Amino acid sequence: MVLALLAIAVVVANAFGRIQRWPPTAHLVTGQPTQEQPRTRDCPADAPVPPARAVVHPPPGGWPGVPQAVSVFNVFAGEVRLEYGGHRVCGLMHDARTRDSRFRAGVGMVIVPQAGNQDPVIVYWQPALKPGWIPTIRIGAPSEVQHVDTLRLVVRTACLAVALVLAATALMAYPGARDWTFLGYAALCGLSVVWQAVLSGLSGYPEPWLPVAGHEPRWFVGLSSMGLGAVLCGMWLLVAGPGLPPGVRRRMVLATAGTWIAASLTVLLAPLAWLEPLAVGVELAFRMVYLLILGWALHRLWRQRPGVLPALAGMLPFALIALLELAGSRLLIEYRVEVIQLAVTWFLAVSAYALNLRLGRLRRQRDEMQQLAETDPLTGLPNRRAGLRRLGEMFAVAREDGTALSVAFIDIDHFKAINDDHGHEAGDRVLVAVAQALRATVRGASEAARMGGEEFLMLLPGVAADSAVQRMHALRVRLAATARELGLEGLSLTASIGVATLRDGDADAAALLRRADQAMYAAKRGGRDQVQLAG
Ligand code: GH3
Ligand code: MG
Ligand code: MG
Repeated sequence: MVLALLAIAVVVANAFGRIQRWPPTAHLVTGQPTQEQPRTRDCPADAPVPPARAVVHPPPGGWPGVPQAVSVFNVFAGEVRLEYGGHRVCGLMHDARTRDSRFRAGVGMVIVPQAGNQDPVIVYWQPALKPGWIPTIRIGAPSEVQHVDTLRLVVRTACLAVALVLAATALMAYPGARDWTFLGYAALCGLSVVWQAVLSGLSGYPEPWLPVAGHEPRWFVGLSSMGLGAVLCGMWLLVAGPGLPPGVRRRMVLATAGTWIAASLTVLLAPLAWLEPLAVGVELAFRMVYLLILGWALHRLWRQRPGVLPALAGMLPFALIALLELAGSRLLIEYRVEVIQLAVTWFLAVSAYALNLRLGRLRRQRDEMQQLAETDPLTGLPNRRAGLRRLGEMFAVAREDGTALSVAFIDIDHFKAINDDHGHEAGDRVLVAVAQALRATVRGASEAARMGGEEFLMLLPGVAADSAVQRMHALRVRLAATARELGLEGLSLTASIGVATLRDGDADAAALLRRADQAMYAAKRGGRDQVQLAG
């Protein structure tokens, strides 16, 4: 088998020209010479120069005569324009990385000034849409700038990948859980993927895959409103914990979906001038609602309610960001995108943990409900529904494997008289004692079920007719002993038992059961307290 697979692999690889000879060549040349022109974009001649600008002056004494890399990031809308001497480069965040692979997280250029040259580097951009977003310019040795830039790309891509994996996991859990929370969570992860892609410029990597270019403000404000709304809803659900009534949970999820739709419509239809106040308003609303939820979470922690710690853990990074912002942290300004992405990813991971707990709880509840629905409350034996289900399963296995299967239908004799003579309560005690006797008779994979009233079913997989009949005789002896143990004056506890063993003519499990039932009635007719084997 292994040799055959190996032979197929060699033939296929040869066919594709991958293996020409063995041992392989000492070196490998891949790719092909290209006809493609470099993907630099000149600044449009007629486009207005963006209004905001920063001038980066050379150090005292002029530029050293070595290459200098200039990278601009944290500009989310409009064109960034870099000028040095007669050299000029333009770019959008969206197309930055398709232009020059050295600058994967920003727009940049490398200048090679003459030693002592005094020309400044001038950067132009569209003013930020929201206050906290401060355009940042990094200047330094190209390798060092590229190194930092690559690290940024790694963090950005990793956060995106984690959100994608979490979304896929939630989608996979949904069919088993049948709980809308999982779909809501997958949607939240999906939204965070698109949001992070736009925020981090990964919507243009390696080729533009989202139609962001030219519509950055709308994408940015729209996705932020939806994302922050969804994150708040997630926080609220986390803090509320498992005790939340399903109706309230549903209303919360619906309200979030409503916010999403309202935000997308407003952002799509609103004039551009509204976007800035909208963005500021959304951020303000987020902070206020966040504080409310945080207060509520701390209150629940104080009251020692379960499940609050994961919620607080998930919310913590957002509080840290706010504190860093208040402290005017330069690190936050420079790595704002990465910090926000890490906070969102952390929140998604903590939510996934809470969701996992929920999945376990739902499974346990379902198992308990199934157990309850399939158990006879008086005797604790499987009820009719469970007995028939197990019979069906055993019938299928016996048919497939060609093994024996016997069933016994047991009906207590004159049970009505037992009730009449000793009272209904005593009758109940007798039924419980009979169930214990049945359990004691059951061995290995055999099972007993209460089919209703004073009728029981025993399933004997792998047991041939003779041994099944023998076992039922043993049960009769045990029932007599049970009657003595119960200590009820003059109680006679006997049963009529019909045994049937699977044969080719039995079309289905019901046919087998019918024969056992008929054999039981034959036992009744034959004078009760006996075992009859179905013909
Ligand atoms: P036979 O020998 O022909 O089977 O006579 P029987 O009296 O056992 O049969 P029948 O079907 O006439 O009566 C069954 C009785 O079982 C009637 C009903 O009151 C009693 N019964 C059914 N379920 C329960 C129960 O949960 N507890 C008690 N105490 N009695 C029950
Ligand atoms: Mg009966
Ligand atoms: Mg009976």
